[in-house]
Amino acid sequence: MSTVRHLTSSEGRAPVVARIRGTDDRLVWLSDRPAPGPEAALLRTWAGAASRGRGDVQAGLRLALEAGRILPAPGSGSTMSLWSALATLGAADLTIARVVEPHLDALAIMAQLDSPPDLDLIGVTDTSTWGVFAAEGGRDPLQARPDGEQWVLQGTKPWCSLAAELSHALVTAWVPSGARRTFAVALDSIGLDVQHAPWHARGLPAVTSGPISFHDVRAVPVGADNWYLTRPGFAWGGIGVAACWYGGAVGVARALMEQARSRELDQVGLMHLGAVDEALYAARCLLRDAAAQVDAGRAREDTGRIAALRVRGRVAATVEEVLTRAGHALGPGPLCFHPEHAGRVADLQVYVRQEHAERDQAALGRALLDNVSAEPPGRPESGTTTPVDGWPW
Ligand SMILES: Cc1cc2nc3c(=O)[nH]c(=O)nc-3n(C[C@H](O)[C@H](O)[C@H](O)COP(=O)(O)OP(=O)(O)OC[C@H]3O[C@@H](n4cnc5c(N)ncnc54)[C@H](O)[C@@H]3O)c2cc1C
Repeated sequence: MSTVRHLTSSEGRAPVVARIRGTDDRLVWLSDRPAPGPEAALLRTWAGAASRGRGDVQAGLRLALEAGRILPAPGSGSTMSLWSALATLGAADLTIARVVEPHLDALAIMAQLDSPPDLDLIGVTDTSTWGVFAAEGGRDPLQARPDGEQWVLQGTKPWCSLAAELSHALVTAWVPSGARRTFAVALDSIGLDVQHAPWHARGLPAVTSGPISFHDVRAVPVGADNWYLTRPGFAWGGIGVAACWYGGAVGVARALMEQARSRELDQVGLMHLGAVDEALYAARCLLRDAAAQVDAGRAREDTGRIAALRVRGRVAATVEEVLTRAGHALGPGPLCFHPEHAGRVADLQVYVRQEHAERDQAALGRALLDNVSAEPPGRPESGTTTPVDGWPW
C-alpha cells in the first residue's frame, strides 16, 4: 500500500524521503487494548476515505453524516472510541477531521438537552450538516431577541467555518438579560449573509472561516440561558478537538518513521524519533485518561473544565514539539516536494491555533486555584474533599 523512494535533488544534496502513497488506512487507537475487529475495520475504512478525499470538504461532509449516525456521544461510555475516530481522521487528513468534528459536536450538544428543540421549524433533516459558531469578537456581537413566540438573531458572528457549505449551525448569541444562549439556525435563512471575506490561510485552505451577518434571522433556542457554556459536555467537545490535533501530529510523526525505514538514522535522528515518541505517548495517555474520566462522570463542571484545559494544552504542546522536531529531522525536502506532508504541516499549524496557548495556561492556573479549596491530596488531614481529578499533585 505504501512505498518509499529516495529523491535526490538535482544539485546532489542529501536525499529527502518521499512517499508515494495511494490510500493510508491506518487507525489511531487510544486504548492499550486492541481495537475490536469491526471497529478497527470501520475506522480503517474512514481513514482510507479521508486520505483519498484529502482537502475535500464534500468528502468530509459525507463522512460526517456517516460518522454522526454511528459514533457514540462523549460521556456515553465509549468516549475513547469517539476520540480514536477523530484522531484517526486527523492523521489521515486534517481538513476532513475539521469538517467531521463540529458536526459530531453539534449532534452531541443537542443530545445533551433534557427537552429537544423543535428543529422542524428550521428544516432539519437526517442529512443536515452542522457547524458550531461560538467565537466572540468584533463590534457587532450577535444578539438574540424574542419576536412573538419565536426568536430572531441580529449582528455578526466571526469565525464561522464552512458556513457556505453546511446546512445548519448552532450559534451563541447575547440575550436581553445579558446571558449567552445557543440557537439553531438554517444557514440558508432569509436575512443570513455569509460574508466571503478573503481567506489567505495556507493551512486548512478549504475550511474558509469568515463572518456571518444576521438580519432578523429566525432561530430556535437550544437550551436555557448560559446552558451551552456551563453544561459538562462543553469541556468534552474541546477535548475532541484536541484528539484531531493529536491525530495530525501522528500523521506528521509517521513521516519521521518512514525516514527511519529508508535511511540509517544517526544519533540526532534517533533522538528526534525518541523525543517525538515520548511526546506522542504522553499525549495519548492523557487523552485516554480523560476519556475514562468523562465516562466515569468525573469530568463535569470545574473538573471537566480543568481536564479540557490540561489535555488541550498538553496536546497543543505536543503538536508544536512534533512540528519542530519533524522540521529539524526531515529538513525542507518534504515541506517543499511532498504535497501530503507539506499540507498536513500547514493544516496543523493553523488548526492548533484554536488553542489559546499561554492564555489557556493562565485559565488553568486560575481554575485550579478556584477549584481547590482545602489541602493538597495525599495529606491525611485533607480527607477526601479535594477533587483528585482537579488537583492530583
Ligand atoms: C481555522 C479556524 C477555524 C475556526 N472555526 C471556528 C468555528 O467554526 N467556530 C467557532 O466558534 N470558532 C472558530 N474559530 C475561532 C477560534 O475558536 C477562536 O475563537 C479564534 O481562533 C480567535 O481566538 P482568540 O479568541 O484567541 O482571539 P483573540 O482573543 O482575538 O486573540 C488573538 C491574539 O491576541 C492575543 N490577545 C488577546 N487578548 C490580548 C490582550 N489583552 N493583550 C495582548 N494580546 C492579546 C491572543 O493571545 C492571541 O494571540 C476558528 C479558528 C480557526 C483558526
